[in-house]
Amino acid sequence: MKVIKVNTPGNLELQEVAKPDNVGPQDVLVKVKAAGICGSDIHIYHGTNPVATYPRVIGHEVVGEIVEVGVEVDNLKVGDHVAIDPVVSCGECYPCRIGRNNVCKSLKVRGVHTDGGFAEYVVVPGKSVYQISKDLSWPEAALIEPFTIGAQVSSRGEITAADTVLVLGAGPIGLIVLQVVKKIGAKCIITDLLDKRLELAKELGADVVVNTSKQDLPDIVFKETNGLGVTVVVEAVGLPKLLEEAIKVTSPAGRIVVLGFTETASNIAQLDITKNELDIRGSRLHAKQFPKVIEWFNNRELRPEVLISHQFHFTEVKKAIDLIETDPQSVCKIVLLFN
Ligand SMILES: [Zn+2]
Ligand SMILES: [Zn+2]
Repeated sequence: MKVIKVNTPGNLELQEVAKPDNVGPQDVLVKVKAAGICGSDIHIYHGTNPVATYPRVIGHEVVGEIVEVGVEVDNLKVGDHVAIDPVVSCGECYPCRIGRNNVCKSLKVRGVHTDGGFAEYVVVPGKSVYQISKDLSWPEAALIEPFTIGAQVSSRGEITAADTVLVLGAGPIGLIVLQVVKKIGAKCIITDLLDKRLELAKELGADVVVNTSKQDLPDIVFKETNGLGVTVVVEAVGLPKLLEEAIKVTSPAGRIVVLGFTETASNIAQLDITKNELDIRGSRLHAKQFPKVIEWFNNRELRPEVLISHQFHFTEVKKAIDLIETDPQSVCKIVLLFN
């Protein structure tokens, strides 16, 4: 079978390897059907993901069909359609014990620290896969994992219908957070530098869209919130300066959720946090959000399909990456197909 492997930073290839035959009693063998390309896959390719190790089969937004079931797995069967959870945690450390296994002390992420799902077949423990409706198309189902990121953001931000949420960045994750925010019933202001993405945001229900290259964000935020500021900010771009700006437009008692992986420091005064009792919270991967997101997908409560801008056969992965690098404006989410 073929896998997509990053041998060393900058060196990605389609490699022929043996089909896995190590299906343990608690494992399942999944024939991969579709997998999304994520910004973090590109970072691993370029050597700019500080936590990745090499060589690595990448890919963590993976769905497929079960073709073999270990003898001790009793809740899944051959033919089931499943989504694979990339989070591998110990179950015993402090974060695991309080239900936050996504930041396990010995966290491993499939496709980052261990081999992932850009492969024709993968063996995974039965407890790491979730059954999905057969009515979902494979490409849209590949969006389940990215939507768990949005569900996690909403949990970290404690977003309710009473909030006004500012989402900084209308890339795939920003547009996913927007959909989750609107599902909850909160008001959503979203920013970007590209009008094309903001048009899509409007179509997905954004209440206010702001092109920060030509509009003044604080002006608009304070006008929209009667001078209060937004109650939640989601920083989905990962720029140190945006975190500094976010603090200036957050309401007292507000929450700021950060998703960025930058190692560059933001310049923030303690006073800005203390005087308004702001909560600045990280959001990483997801903590047990798969069942909820799958229910949303199965019930067609979201519009994942509008985020898919391109589909490629997985053997054309280099073409897909080329497109992301040369024409990022035309790309939202690319899904690789494995049929
Ligand atoms: Zn991802
Ligand atoms: Zn743990």
